[in-house]
Amino acid sequence: MKVAVGARDSPHKPGTPAARPGTDARLEKLGVRTKLDLVLHLPLRYEDETRLTALADVRPGEPALVEAEVVDSEVKYRPRRTLVVKLRETTPEEGGDARGAHELWVRFLNFYPSQVKQLAPGKRVRLFGEVRPGFFGDEMVHPRYRLVQKGAPLAESLTPVYPTTAGLPQGELRRRIDEALDTLALEDTLDAKILAKLRLGGFRESVLFLHRPPPKVDAASLQERTHPAWRRLKFDELLAQQLAMRVAYRERRAKSAPKLPDAHTLTNALVRSLPFALTRAQREAQSAIAKDLAQPHPMRRLLQGDVGSGKTLVAALAALQAIENGWQAALMAPTEILAEQHYLKLSHWLEPLGVKIAWLAGGLKARAKKAALEAIAGGETQLAIGTHALFQEGVAFAKLGLAIVDEQHRFGVEQRLALASKGGAEPHQLMMSATPIPRTLAMSYFADLDVTVIDEMPPGRTPVLTKLVSDERRDEVIERVRESCREGAQAYWVCPLVEESEQLQLKAAIETFETIRATFPDLAVGLVHGRMKPAEKAQVMSDFKARRIQLLVATTVIEVGVDVPNATLMVIEHAERMGLAQLHQLRGRVGRGAKRSLAILLYSQPLSELARARLKAIYENHDGFEIARQDLLLRGPGELLGARQSGAPLLRFADIERDTDLLEAARRAADELLAARSPSVARHLDRWLGSRQFFLRA
Ligand code: ADP
Ligand code: MG
Repeated sequence: MKVAVGARDSPHKPGTPAARPGTDARLEKLGVRTKLDLVLHLPLRYEDETRLTALADVRPGEPALVEAEVVDSEVKYRPRRTLVVKLRETTPEEGGDARGAHELWVRFLNFYPSQVKQLAPGKRVRLFGEVRPGFFGDEMVHPRYRLVQKGAPLAESLTPVYPTTAGLPQGELRRRIDEALDTLALEDTLDAKILAKLRLGGFRESVLFLHRPPPKVDAASLQERTHPAWRRLKFDELLAQQLAMRVAYRERRAKSAPKLPDAHTLTNALVRSLPFALTRAQREAQSAIAKDLAQPHPMRRLLQGDVGSGKTLVAALAALQAIENGWQAALMAPTEILAEQHYLKLSHWLEPLGVKIAWLAGGLKARAKKAALEAIAGGETQLAIGTHALFQEGVAFAKLGLAIVDEQHRFGVEQRLALASKGGAEPHQLMMSATPIPRTLAMSYFADLDVTVIDEMPPGRTPVLTKLVSDERRDEVIERVRESCREGAQAYWVCPLVEESEQLQLKAAIETFETIRATFPDLAVGLVHGRMKPAEKAQVMSDFKARRIQLLVATTVIEVGVDVPNATLMVIEHAERMGLAQLHQLRGRVGRGAKRSLAILLYSQPLSELARARLKAIYENHDGFEIARQDLLLRGPGELLGARQSGAPLLRFADIERDTDLLEAARRAADELLAARSPSVARHLDRWLGSRQFFLRA
């Protein structure tokens, strides 16, 4: 999707820093391509070189600027080559400290021959760093230093320390940023009236302040990014995001898509055929979607609902609405297991209604694949179900009216975009997610989406009882599993997560399987993991469903969507390694029937603080929204949104959880500016989106 206002084909503008191959590549690594990027490359912290500290006053652990005269310097070779410089602090008559002459030893482990010459006796040096008690007395190791004349002026502002990358020294980065600050006009994108209303400072003054803060600034407010100068930048960033999303929203409203009004023929037939009634929340979601589909522009709706809330049925009804109108629908799921489950479930529901369904996944045999592709391209297929294979090259839909993406947060932005561009005219899109996104986040990142929440579970569910059990009490857990399975229940045994490599994960899965099989010789034990062939996986899952397997050893491949109501017990090994959302999803695999289910989370000591916090959160909470909120607090928004896969950096300055007031303000300002057709809109988008697009858009 492109942004009409402010989008640029090439980020390189006149005024890009002069080419110096190494440095430019390194700057690029930092995301810095233009002078404006340099201006927006803000310090991580500051060093205070605005005042000199007497050696007698330096405090251990606190970096300080000191001045002293070289007395002696020597290159020593033991234990390793070291330049050792002895300095003496200036005497009282020279303006030094009256408490007597202090000595300081400085050691350099890496140095140039020129440095040895430079630091010759009699030279006066200003050094910045930490002074620590050493072998001979006070000592500094590798301080930053500069030769000075007596009475040389001090820095007028704090020295910024920038995030940088290997091979790009602070000095070079500072020089470039300073140059950009001095040459760019940095005029304001917003007018004085708005700024006054929001009590924000000017752009130029805020930026200059952050790069060159005066000596007496409130250091904590800079560090914590609560200083008004920080607030201005955060506001600008959020405003750009809000504007961009509204522009995208408008663009979408201006595009055309097939009108697919609810004809109630197939949809009603499905509802009538079900052994249960739709929940209120499902009905509401369906009617919102039905209205969208009847519009002549593409739907972009996100359907959120906790694990087990019944999103699949809502998706099925949406698909039927497209099919009733003579269009095709497609359903894409992130894993083959999940796609297959959908395939089985939807075939069960829709084939009796005469709907033609095709299955398409990576593992398909060439002949079957060819047949599926032909049926999709020929329009014979009404509903195609599969993995991302559905939207790869070579797949052409005859008449795609609706694309449904399950577990949308697991897909990268590119995959979702590929989907949008299939089949000529823009199809409607329904995205589903069981990872509920907190309101503030949805407001911020999905401002161009419509969001529907299924806030109700189908009746007859009993919440899953969760137990945290130390690995030392494994024997008791084994007993518990044996007992439950003897009584006719089925159980999952989730293998420890190994993130390093798929190979190791496979090894862990097989080892766990062997151990479990030896532990439970009396039970039918099965294994399912991500590396299995699709047909094998399907076989295992159907054996489990048919109760031919009592205890299923599984990797986290079962984390999404798997639905076996008779499975009422789950043991998760090394639960401390797993993420909160992952644990919640896993736990959602049990508790799908009327019987009370139990999830046992095995953990081994020692626990990191984060792991402890996660286990506590999953133990205390059952509501997916609350868990998502805690997850956000623990991890930050990036992962939740799947930004890691997409590689799209998110907000750089603002913090969605903490800066809610600014987000609200930015939202209102965006509405007002757009309503007033203010020239600020184009100016602002141009500044913030001109050089790089850092928004997650889909
Ligand atoms: P999720 O939202 O996690 O994708 P599913 O769509 O897999 O949830 O639904 C979970 C289970 O609940 C499925 O077995 C589904 O058939 C069943 N289900 C869906 N809607 C209802 C309902 N209204 N009443 C009872 N069971 C339902
Ligand atoms: Mg689902």
